[in-house]
Amino acid sequence: MRIGVLALQGAFIEHQKSLAACGVESMQIRKPEQLEAIQGLIIPGGESTTMGKLMHQFDLFEPIVELGQQGTPIFGTCAGMIMLAREIYGSEQPRLGLMDIEVERNAFGRQVESFEADLEVPALGEDPFKAVFIRAPYIHRVGDPVEILAQYGEKIVLARQGHYLAAAFHPELTEDLRLHRYFLNMIGSY
Ligand code: GLN
Repeated sequence: MRIGVLALQGAFIEHQKSLAACGVESMQIRKPEQLEAIQGLIIPGGESTTMGKLMHQFDLFEPIVELGQQGTPIFGTCAGMIMLAREIYGSEQPRLGLMDIEVERNAFGRQVESFEADLEVPALGEDPFKAVFIRAPYIHRVGDPVEILAQYGEKIVLARQGHYLAAAFHPELTEDLRLHRYFLNMIGSY
């Protein structure tokens, strides 16, 4: 199995390290034809308006939409989650629109631009998952096909819709590999 990590900007190296720690091969994606060589794609954190522009410049925007529509699992973290969303609160910026979620950007306010929180994530087992939030978005609204996997207080921060997975935080910045393994299992079942 080989996983692509979109490598236009943002935290792609860290995702590759997490995948390597899971014993899985990864590949930096910068060209549309590279999408043919992967069984799953991670869209990392970074800055979502910049990432959207770069996806267009690198002719990757439509090919990634098609990749998802053809059933290849995609995991978006932070800015990657924003890219997956159908709706972005108060913004018309480009998004892939693959997941039936509405997100709000920078939604935790200026005082708490970055923080860590222990999340209950029943799908990952009993131990809490230490989540690193950096200028993080959260999910306002989910459609019927979306399963909520974790909340921080009232805010939805981890969700799945079939072969799509979205996290508001950065699982690649901690040693805990459970969320990457969860995504790899999703690929196994598609
Ligand atoms: N605030 C960024 C955005 O709106 C996302 C932050 C991140 O990916 N760490 O795109």
